[in-house]
Amino acid sequence: MKARPKTMKKKTATVVRKARTAKEALPFWKTKTLEQMTPKEWESLCDGCGKCCTYKLEYEETGELAQTNVACRLFDGTSCQCSDYKNRKKIVPDCILLTPKVVRKMNWLPNTCAYRLVMQNKDLYWWHPLVSGDPQTVHQAGISARGRVVNELDAGPLEHHVVDWPDK
Ligand code: SF4
Ligand code: SF4
Repeated sequence: MKARPKTMKKKTATVVRKARTAKEALPFWKTKTLEQMTPKEWESLCDGCGKCCTYKLEYEETGELAQTNVACRLFDGTSCQCSDYKNRKKIVPDCILLTPKVVRKMNWLPNTCAYRLVMQNKDLYWWHPLVSGDPQTVHQAGISARGRVVNELDAGPLEHHVVDWPDK
């Protein structure tokens, strides 16, 4: 009878060690909060969809938001990237630099945005480059703004460009 507590203790320790190993094996977006990510992890979390570089319309009376296909002047619709990411804030002062605090406040990030998903404790979709290992899958899945936007310098009134971006 005396041997029993010893055996129980050992088993518990084994379970704890196994649980730790399993957690360590999970990718960072499943184990860290937005605030805990390193700068490299933070940057890699962006799926490259480009939808946050498009204008949104907010209706005064209802506060409702509408997406448009009008992209920021610095957005390259073919590569689906900012054409001067490093200097973006100097060239486009109202470009919003994403931080955990900003992400938690913004209600207009698309439902597919990886920052938003992690904030809501949801997993990334199969087409996210971190999951698929391929930066093209976000485009192949039809999720991104690539090839679907008009530059703000050519667009005219935003009201003429309201769209529904795919969000699954
Ligand atoms: S919407 Fe989110 S995931 Fe898509 S480009 Fe913007 S920050 Fe990246
Ligand atoms: S400056 Fe670059 S990152 Fe900022 S909204 Fe424009 S295209 Fe997007």
